[in-house]
Amino acid sequence: MSEWQRVLKEESLASLERLAERFGADVIDVEALKPAFDNFQVRITPAALEQIREVGDPMWNQYVPTVQELDIRDGIIDSLEEDADSPVPNITHRYPDRVLFLVSPVCASYCRFCTRRRKVGDPEKIPLNQYDSAFAYIRSHPEIRDVIMSGGDPMMLSDRRLEYLFQNLRAIPHVEIIRIGSRITSHLPERITPEFCEMVKRYHPVYMNTHFNHPRELTPKVVHALGMLADAGIPLGCQTVLLRGVNDDPDVMKELMQRLLKARVRPYYIYMADQVAGGEHFRTTVQKGLEIVKALRGWTSGLAVPHFVIDSPGGGGKVPLLPEYVEEITDDEVVFRNYEGKRFVYKQPHIPVPAADCGVAAEAPDIVPIQVAQKAAKRTRRRKSASA
Ligand code: SF4
Repeated sequence: MSEWQRVLKEESLASLERLAERFGADVIDVEALKPAFDNFQVRITPAALEQIREVGDPMWNQYVPTVQELDIRDGIIDSLEEDADSPVPNITHRYPDRVLFLVSPVCASYCRFCTRRRKVGDPEKIPLNQYDSAFAYIRSHPEIRDVIMSGGDPMMLSDRRLEYLFQNLRAIPHVEIIRIGSRITSHLPERITPEFCEMVKRYHPVYMNTHFNHPRELTPKVVHALGMLADAGIPLGCQTVLLRGVNDDPDVMKELMQRLLKARVRPYYIYMADQVAGGEHFRTTVQKGLEIVKALRGWTSGLAVPHFVIDSPGGGGKVPLLPEYVEEITDDEVVFRNYEGKRFVYKQPHIPVPAADCGVAAEAPDIVPIQVAQKAAKRTRRRKSASA
C-alpha cells in the first residue's frame, strides 16, 4: 500500500460515529443524519478535516451531512441528464469534439453538494471492468479529440491503472488531449507523488482541472502538490462551484482566485450549483454570481476571472453568464460602462463591412429588418428619455 492509500484508509474520518466523537454528540445527531449518510456516504480526509475550524464554517458545510439534504424541492437526481447522453457505460458524449469518461467511482472526501452523488461512492455504478466499451466508442468516433477523465476522482486510481488508461487513449490517433478532472489536490495532496509526475510526462498533453471552493483549501501542502503537477508540465485549471454558506461572497471569491493564480492554477469556471436533489440548500441566486463576477472583472488580473456558467438543467450544456456592460449597439457606436461604472463610447468603423463579416448572413434578408427594427426602437427610446 502506498503512503497516500494508507493516509486515506487509516486517517480519514468515514462514519457519523467518528464525526460525533470528534466534534461532539451535541452537534452531530447521528440518528437524524443516518438517512443523509445512507443517501451519500461520508468520508473526510485529514487534509479536509484540518481545514474545518468550527461547526458550520465553509469547510464544515462542504463535507458534513445535514438533514437539509433530505428536503427535496426542485432537486433532480440526474440534474444534467448525463445518463441520457451516455452511448456506452461510463461515457457521456454531449459536445461535438469531446467526451466525459467516468473512470473512478470513488473520491477521497465526499462533497455534500456533489452533482454526481447518484453514482459516486458506489463501485457498481461506474464499473471499472467496462473501460473496453468506452475505448471502443472513442476509437470509432474520430471527431473526439478531447477526453475528460472524471468520476468520482480519477486520481483515486493507482498509477498503474492510470497509466493503462493513458496508454489506451494515446493509442487512439485522434485523441489530441487528455484532461483529468480531480479534487485530489485539495483532499489528499499526498496523492501527488514524484512517481505519478514522472509517469504522466510520457502521455502529454495532459491537463488537470482541479476543484477549489474556498481560499482556506490552499494550504502549504496543497500548494506544494500543485507546484509538483505544474513542474511535471500539466497545465492546471480550477472549477469552482458557487455555494451558499461556502463562497457566496465577492471577497472570498477574489481571494480564492488570486491565491489559485499564485499556486500556478488558472481559474477556469465558476458554476452555479446544479439543481441536484440533496444539494439544494447550497444554491444561491444567479444575481449573486453576477455580483461576484462584477467584483472580479477589472478589479483584479484578468487571469483571475473565470467564466461564470450555468450547466443547463436537462443536459443543454454550459452557458456563460455576464454582467451587463453594454448599454447600446448601433451601426455608429457602442455605448458601455467599464468596471467602475463609468460610461464610454466606442465608434464603429465607417469602412463598409461585408455582411458575412458582421455576423449577418447575406442570404438571410429576414434577419436584417428585425435588427433594423430593434435599433429603430432603441433610438426612439433614447430620444424619448432625452426629451423627458
Ligand atoms: S470530489 Fe467531485 S465527484 Fe467527488 S464528491 Fe466531491 S464534487 Fe463529487
